[in-house]
Amino acid sequence: MGVDVGSTTIKIVIIDAGFQIIYKSYERHQANIQQTFAEELNKVIEQFPDTEFCINITGSAGMGIGERIGVNFVQEVVAAVEVVNTIYPDTHTLIDLGGEDAKMVFFKEGKHPDIRMNGSCAGGTGAFIDQMANLMNISVEELGQKALNFEKIYPIASRCGVFAKTDVQNLISRNIPVADISASILHAVALQSVTTLARGFDVKPKVLCIGGPLTFIPALRNSFREVLKINDTDFILPENGEYFPAWGAALYQEKEIVYHNLTSLIQKSASNTKMQSETLPALFKDEEDYNQWKKNRRIKALEFVELGNKKKIECFLGIDSGSTTTKIVIMDRDARILYRFYDSNEGNPLKKVIEGLEKFYAEAAEKGISYKFLSSAATGYGEDLIKSALGLDYGIVETMAHLSGAQYVDPKVSFILDIGGQDIKSIFTENGVISNIELNEACSAGCGSFLQNFASTMHMSLEEFTKAACLAKYPSDLGSRCTVFMNSKVKQSLRENAGMDDIAAGLAYSVVKNCLYKVLKISNLKQLGDNIVVQGGTFRNDGVYRALELLSGKAVSSTDYPELMGALGVALYSRSLWEKENTDKCTPAIELPNAENINTKELQCKGCTNNCSVLRFKFENGNICYAGNKCEKVFYNKSVAKKGGYNGFDEKNEILFNHCVNADNIQQGKTIGIPRVLNMFDNYPFWHTLLSECGFNVRLSPESTFPLYQKGVGSIMSDNICFPAKLVHGHILALIEQKVDRIFYPIIPKEEKEFGASSNSFNCPVVSGYPEVIRSSMEPEEKYGIPFDKPVITFSSDRALEKACFEYVSSLGVSKSVFKTALEKAMQVKTDVKIRLRESQ
Ligand code: SF4
Repeated sequence: MGVDVGSTTIKIVIIDAGFQIIYKSYERHQANIQQTFAEELNKVIEQFPDTEFCINITGSAGMGIGERIGVNFVQEVVAAVEVVNTIYPDTHTLIDLGGEDAKMVFFKEGKHPDIRMNGSCAGGTGAFIDQMANLMNISVEELGQKALNFEKIYPIASRCGVFAKTDVQNLISRNIPVADISASILHAVALQSVTTLARGFDVKPKVLCIGGPLTFIPALRNSFREVLKINDTDFILPENGEYFPAWGAALYQEKEIVYHNLTSLIQKSASNTKMQSETLPALFKDEEDYNQWKKNRRIKALEFVELGNKKKIECFLGIDSGSTTTKIVIMDRDARILYRFYDSNEGNPLKKVIEGLEKFYAEAAEKGISYKFLSSAATGYGEDLIKSALGLDYGIVETMAHLSGAQYVDPKVSFILDIGGQDIKSIFTENGVISNIELNEACSAGCGSFLQNFASTMHMSLEEFTKAACLAKYPSDLGSRCTVFMNSKVKQSLRENAGMDDIAAGLAYSVVKNCLYKVLKISNLKQLGDNIVVQGGTFRNDGVYRALELLSGKAVSSTDYPELMGALGVALYSRSLWEKENTDKCTPAIELPNAENINTKELQCKGCTNNCSVLRFKFENGNICYAGNKCEKVFYNKSVAKKGGYNGFDEKNEILFNHCVNADNIQQGKTIGIPRVLNMFDNYPFWHTLLSECGFNVRLSPESTFPLYQKGVGSIMSDNICFPAKLVHGHILALIEQKVDRIFYPIIPKEEKEFGASSNSFNCPVVSGYPEVIRSSMEPEEKYGIPFDKPVITFSSDRALEKACFEYVSSLGVSKSVFKTALEKAMQVKTDVKIRLRESQ
């Protein structure tokens, strides 16, 4: 028997003496591993009474159980490899995508399989697809179905949910068809898996794909086939793919065969009471302590006033259009709230704002109230769109809105921590003005959605989760790392018999630790000052609130509606601007646009090779707004007139790359390809002249584009090198496709000194070593028959440069006299280009 206890499921496979499966079961454990494990074994007992089994256990949560009940543990990849070796021996590559793990195994006859696994990041796994489906407000099944009918793939970063979310939201706001977004997400997953896992290994047929996402989402398999350029027949979805680790565990044979009685295993698993090894102080002593704290903590309650008290009202409107939620606050002249609205934006921020305001209009009409907006403003992710669509007075940067909200709570605020669903913002202030801002960039581990996901896997509402955390006696120490690591820490704690309450409290601590130590990288908590104000829906969780107090050693302030602080802040800010500017002025009645009458047009920006597709919205009020542009070089939303500029990049490109090709050289058929990458940019005029004058036809690879990058991802050895280096692979393939006779990509340890006083002129190790990486990862000569020349040449001394260059060209049959003249001209061009570049600045 093989048992696979994974992060979300328990699978059991029983095989007979001929390795055939005679029993299999698949059950979700909903984080209640011990009970589900016992139930599943009982089912086996029912079917096979009085039978003893030879058992191996595998899976991410399998080791702890194995230790407790005395059953042999087999690592899950080793188990899956066992199935491949026994049942599918002609496999070259195994791709296994799980809920949180992604693996690739490469098989070579006579050698141990090469196993690659994802490291610190869950980008490119099932969890990532779940997250994206959530963002689009559809199920994963729907996402997979829709993706089958796509027309266009858009680039999406899948390294982390945070980056991907921005890309997906952008596509949603541009009304890109769901089919295209879905397919783009799956394409990104395939691309990410190949880049991070293959790391230079060739994914050759036959490819066996297993794991939930690849088994249940046919469109994901299509994306892998497309990225890997593999035929349908070579990309195999084996029967029982989701059971591979359990099946492999059943196949795995220990030297000494031990038979186990299942009833005694169930007893052992239930009786073990090993305690957690690492716990944190309880958030509260007991329920009374918690209730006392609730009464005494520093909460400034928002002031509300009933809509309808007065028949004529003058008010201020604040809209916080966030990445996942929409918040609206309408307040009177005394900052008393007349109306509030909070809802998920369901991927369409404008629609949500219209819905929110329509509710206010309807309520006012019902109560016979006439209202006048004295001033209105928007902030947040959808600021530009909402401001243009509704013709609001102001667009306010988020940090100012949050500062203004925090000063309402505590005028002396020194530090503001705002934790939303997926964003963390922290603002340090000095004398009432912002002195520093930190945002989460690459990791969402400390955000609210992280807690929400855990609460839902534990089948708890957020209220239950909060209460459990606050009353936990021994909060688990889960550390402060990425979600993937956190999950394994949770599993470890569960193995050590931690309760759900201990996990909930541990997670509350972790969210705060992530914010303080990982995102803000604070070494000294004194930096926060004495007046800490917290905002964002996450602080509705008293556990998180309290954890911040315990960790910082300070009393923390907030309001009873922490999620509304951005909208409150923007309404307050618009009030203060109105007071400063002109108290006679008021916003004309805000007409809500009819979604049908918004004129949208897709444009393609030609500002650079990114060729962003930009959506232009024209509203009935005459306002225009652009979305989808990655920069404001061509399209911009601010009302300030654009200043004419000078494009230094275009001019530099012209100076570096516009060199004539000698027609005689083309006929000679000696074509040398040079990749347009890294340090080859600045040195290109020199190489072009030297090689052309020596009689070669020099061909440059095309400008970098996203498709060119994608072309080369399969051979990238490490996910951690810089993007310009990753691009080199696509350039080399482009030269191979151009059928050049050889490729020239020299190793240049040192460049020419830019200034006499500079201490050295070394290239960074990536730049100088990349020709070597390309040689071994892409093997241009062995695989494509194109010699790859990577002589070691230095620009740091003229004599050394001359010697190394001659050594190279003479190996291609160039005479000394031809070389001398060519070098002279190349040196002259090098100097001229330098002067032109300096002059053009
Ligand atoms: S100029 Fe900016 S918006 Fe235009 S294509 Fe380039 S990055 Fe995109």
